[in-house]
Amino acid sequence: MKKIIIAIDGYSSSGKSTMAKELAKETGYIYIDTGAMYRAVTLYALRQGYFEGNHVNEGKLKADMPNISISFQFNPSTGKSDTFLNGENVEKEIRSMEVAKKVSLVASLSFVRKAMVAQQQAMGKEKGIVMDGRDIGTVVFPDAELKLFVTASPEVRARRRVEELLAKGEKVSYEEVLENVKERDYLDSTRKESPLRQAKDALVLDNSNMSRAEQEAWLKEKFEACVKE
Ligand code: C5P
Repeated sequence: MKKIIIAIDGYSSSGKSTMAKELAKETGYIYIDTGAMYRAVTLYALRQGYFEGNHVNEGKLKADMPNISISFQFNPSTGKSDTFLNGENVEKEIRSMEVAKKVSLVASLSFVRKAMVAQQQAMGKEKGIVMDGRDIGTVVFPDAELKLFVTASPEVRARRRVEELLAKGEKVSYEEVLENVKERDYLDSTRKESPLRQAKDALVLDNSNMSRAEQEAWLKEKFEACVKE
């Protein structure tokens, strides 16, 4: 069976990563969460004290880019990949609300995107990869064989995110998360550099009213149709 690149784009908390992880498990493909990479850069900038309110010191962050190394490592105890920033496991820290509130700003900087996209393209050289994000089907892999664009209503997405954060022990309110989801949608879709767009040849999935099993079946069908071609 031919190996392909699967690009999954869509809005925050639309279930992209759940889909991507399931597909990777089923196919034996490598899964890359590109949102985690932008989150790791954001965590780095926060720790260095590069933020002043909603402004980031671009000069300092740009000069530091060569010193920011991001990698993924499979964690057998969770069955998932953890994100490493300069050798440290930061999987928990990058999922915090503090990082969520700043990440879209960092992701709008062209020097950050250039560095991340170059790493992502290198990861996909051998194909057999499922990558999720905002610009995978449009910028990172415009020739990906299978492109999906996932969406759901902001309210459904916020509810999912609240459940996830509460399960991890972070105390958040539905209103705060809904506001963050809407703000990131806005910033991600209106930024100058690689805005969130549906690729012309992407298959669209609105999973607002879909069960996980229905979503999985949809995904499997699309994947099989694509590799058979
Ligand atoms: O996917 P996740 O919600 O973790 O992504 C966090 C943020 O990273 C997004 O809101 C977006 O600002 C940015 N991002 C991006 N391009 C990607 C993946 C994520 O700009 N390919």
